[in-house]
Amino acid sequence: MARSEKLKEMYPFDMYAFANGLTEGELTVLQNVRNFLENDMKPVVNEHWEKAEFPFEAFKGIAETGIMNSPLLFEGREGARKPSELYNAFLYFELAKVDASLATFYTVHGGLCYNTILLGGSEAQIEKYAPKIASWEWQGCFGLTEPDHGSDIAGGLATTAEKVGDKWVINGEKRWIGGASTADVLPIFARDKADGKIKCFIVKGGSPGLSVENIKHKVALRQVQNGHITLENVEVPDEDRLENVNGFKDVARILRSTRADIAHLATGMTIGATEAALKYIKERDQFGRKLSGFQLVQEKVARMQANVVATMAYSIQLANMQEQGHFLEENSALAKMHNAMRMRETVAWGREVCGGNGITLETDVARFFADGEAIYSYEGTHEINALIVGRFLTGVGAFV
Ligand SMILES: Cc1cc2nc3c(=O)[nH]c(=O)nc-3n(C[C@H](O)[C@H](O)[C@H](O)COP(=O)(O)OP(=O)(O)OC[C@H]3O[C@@H](n4cnc5c(N)ncnc54)[C@H](O)[C@@H]3O)c2cc1C
Repeated sequence: MARSEKLKEMYPFDMYAFANGLTEGELTVLQNVRNFLENDMKPVVNEHWEKAEFPFEAFKGIAETGIMNSPLLFEGREGARKPSELYNAFLYFELAKVDASLATFYTVHGGLCYNTILLGGSEAQIEKYAPKIASWEWQGCFGLTEPDHGSDIAGGLATTAEKVGDKWVINGEKRWIGGASTADVLPIFARDKADGKIKCFIVKGGSPGLSVENIKHKVALRQVQNGHITLENVEVPDEDRLENVNGFKDVARILRSTRADIAHLATGMTIGATEAALKYIKERDQFGRKLSGFQLVQEKVARMQANVVATMAYSIQLANMQEQGHFLEENSALAKMHNAMRMRETVAWGREVCGGNGITLETDVARFFADGEAIYSYEGTHEINALIVGRFLTGVGAFV
């Protein structure tokens, strides 16, 4: 099959041909990921969402697709530690168009944790952790937010670290930490009591003094287990303090990369909700014909598709810039803000065109609709990302 036909078949929603830049190797891995998600995950996501359980063991099977480390992803980029940013964007589209919880679980492991090691670790620390995270031998998470400090974490972070001999002693609490209860590797951000700087410590799952309680009764991302972590005199050897995290500016460096991931995740949900709505309106009859034949319904799905193309455009151009080494805080913040806004209205329209059935899990749009609220607020709320863009535009920081 000709490449253009193959791309059209794989990405019918990609009207402006953003997928053209993907290599054959990347397309093969993306197809493998799609097969895994369609065959092994899609049939079980609603049931797990309802039970508020994550299909943890089954999801780990995704490692076999080579999602982070297949040699096919490194053809022509030998020596690189990460696949291309374009592949990364399309990977989030694949994950999130099936389910936002699966994509979120991936982002804490393959995005936040992995990037924290790559950007915060010394060469020896990267060698120690990165390959095992890439192969999923070790599952990771990202411990920044605290019960009393969310948006103001930069100045407010209260968890402490104290150097005692060749060890660090960590005390404090973390909240909302995705995948924390099952993680082998927990990067925890804490303030050094001696110099007041924020540093990052790799706490191992099961360490004495570490306890994790999963947050219950969520109405969004119900599958993801978000942990409330308590650290009581948890000891971390000095060799596991990430050498290149020495202040909040280094945390911001990590977030510049991972906020782009959430922009891509929002794009994937926009695609998923549009696909689910189209499926429904092509099958449902009212007034003696398919919903898809009514003008008002078509206008709504046309708007949804416009959001698909707009969010893809933000994602792909941001990915291209990051591939060339341009990581600007305001660019990631703008993409996260824009794509989450467009996703939020798209999932609501998707719910709307499915009528009453749009509030049941059977039509999939209900899950996107509920989950969209969490994506809108995590990894920088709408307001915080808007304030980052506002500071760039006006030169005035208006956070406080
Ligand atoms: C499902 C989920 C998963 C998450 N996963 C993780 C994770 O894995 N690791 C992690 O570290 N964190 C995680 N988080 C935390 C997330 O990043 C925070 O929820 C987010 O930063 C917002 O903090 P907050 O919830 O404390 O809200 P708050 O900071 O209390 O904000 C409440 C409201 O006030 C607004 N507000 C705050 N300050 C200002 C201001 N200066 N100007 C205008 N408006 C303002 C906010 O925009 C928001 O609308 C997760 C959160 C959720 C919901």
